[in-house]
Amino acid sequence: MRRVRERKKGERHIRTCQKNGRDRVSDDIKKSRLAVLSCHLTAGSSVMASEEEKALAAAPSDSPTIFDKIINKEIPATVVYEDDKVLAFRDIAPQAPTHILIIPKNKDGLTGLSKAEERHTEILGHLLYTAKLVAKQEGLEDGFRIVINDGPQGCQSVYHIHVHLLGGRQMNWPPG
Ligand code: 5GP
Repeated sequence: MRRVRERKKGERHIRTCQKNGRDRVSDDIKKSRLAVLSCHLTAGSSVMASEEEKALAAAPSDSPTIFDKIINKEIPATVVYEDDKVLAFRDIAPQAPTHILIIPKNKDGLTGLSKAEERHTEILGHLLYTAKLVAKQEGLEDGFRIVINDGPQGCQSVYHIHVHLLGGRQMNWPPG
């Protein structure tokens, strides 16, 4: 009898721990979502995060993103450079006089830099070299900044790796 009572107590304890674990996970997701939204709202942009960005922020995933639609020309973008591997276009909510996004046409699992594997070294180099070419094309002789946001704490909202090229004004440090 006593043994049965002990077992039931143990099972209750396990159920409570499992519930607390679930609550912690959902709290983490909520925190991540808020981090991304607050990054966008405090970045000086007057543009509210779109519904699509909010959805992506809530669920980092390997699913197609808005950038696939830009690559496939299903939605318009101001393309400033293109070759067989990468596409560079102006950010819809610029944070500097020049704000360009450079993305690989084939994501190949690179939702973000943290997902990089050895096979990605060529495309990663190509993205950075393209940033240099576009910076020159945009006349950013006095300097520019490259940013790659990664994950919720890094303020990433679109899960298709992209390099931000920012220029045309004095940048600050620390970046915030
Ligand atoms: P992240 O926050 O992921 O580092 O950067 C995503 C960037 O994509 C943001 O700067 C955002 O303004 C930009 N963006 C989101 N949706 C679109 C879009 O439909 N068109 C363009 N041109 N940029 C977009």
